Amino acid sequence: MASARPPAPSALPSRSLSLFEAPPPVRGPETLEQIREDLGDCHRCRLAAGRKTIVFGQGNPHAELVFVGEGPGADEDEQGLPFVGRAGKLLNRLIEFIGLKREDVYICNVVKCRPPGNRTPERDEIEACSPFLYRQIEAIKPRLLCCLGAPAVRTVLGIKEGITKIRGRFYNFGSAKALATVHPAYILRNPREEKTLREDFEKIRDFLKKT
Ligand code: URA
Repeated sequence: MASARPPAPSALPSRSLSLFEAPPPVRGPETLEQIREDLGDCHRCRLAAGRKTIVFGQGNPHAELVFVGEGPGADEDEQGLPFVGRAGKLLNRLIEFIGLKREDVYICNVVKCRPPGNRTPERDEIEACSPFLYRQIEAIKPRLLCCLGAPAVRTVLGIKEGITKIRGRFYNFGSAKALATVHPAYILRNPREEKTLREDFEKIRDFLKKT
């Protein structure tokens, strides 16, 4: 199994303090509500200018499975919820295909505001937004992350290889695992490829069945 991104900061050993240093304030595990509050009416990047709603994420705060997509589209921007458009309907079907309900999982995106014309989020936008994604993942502590499409794979796993090459593989992510797969929107454009996505969802189901 390949290893990708380094463990989350909280997993790293802390250095020892000198006698004269006060210990840093203990930042216990954050809740999703605290992270949302800290995000506020975010203007950390240019996407704020064109958005209607910040799409923070939705689902079970203790989910074993977290999906990470690319960014909100028009429907998501309108409703303030992730994956509620056509790609979302397909994602819902796949979640049900593996015996889960949408409420069982947590769904979020690499960026929380809609990129204009649904373009791919740019590097600085991802850099501004991804710390919140990592904090969400740390708060939820899932067993498995499912990265939907190349921007999610690049952001979460730091892998730049083409998605078709690395899809279906599990990677280490701190103490969790992460699976890379294609984005449901790609399947809407290439319906013959749905089999591929189903295969990867079967892997998710089998992984979650273990212990
Ligand atoms: N595509 C995404 O990547 N995320 C959404 O929330 C909706 C569509």
